[in-house]
Amino acid sequence: MSLMMQIFDIINQTISDYKVKKVKRVTLKVGKMSNVMPDSLSFCFEVLSEGTKCEGAELVIQETPLTGRCLDCQKEFTSEGFPLACPNCGSRNTRMIGGTELAIESIEAE
Ligand SMILES: [Zn+2]
Repeated sequence: MSLMMQIFDIINQTISDYKVKKVKRVTLKVGKMSNVMPDSLSFCFEVLSEGTKCEGAELVIQETPLTGRCLDCQKEFTSEGFPLACPNCGSRNTRMIGGTELAIESIEAE
């Protein structure tokens, strides 16, 4: 819940810079490994948006894949899970570079 409150704060700060009558759609980028349940995000969004400019807005959740970079051959790749192994050279000398993010991708309003 507190996570969604943080997101909601950012949305409100963002739209307060513009003359927004009503928010129509909010798109979130949620990393596959962020341990966030899309269903609970949607639920929290609905509760928090009640009586605000976001009421009735559609929440779109884009899941982003687990992404790694190989420290041996410098290739970037996506993975279904751990351990991260480079599909190019097979090395496990890799670093995770994406997949745990939680960010606002876009806000559509009128
Ligand atoms: Zn590699």
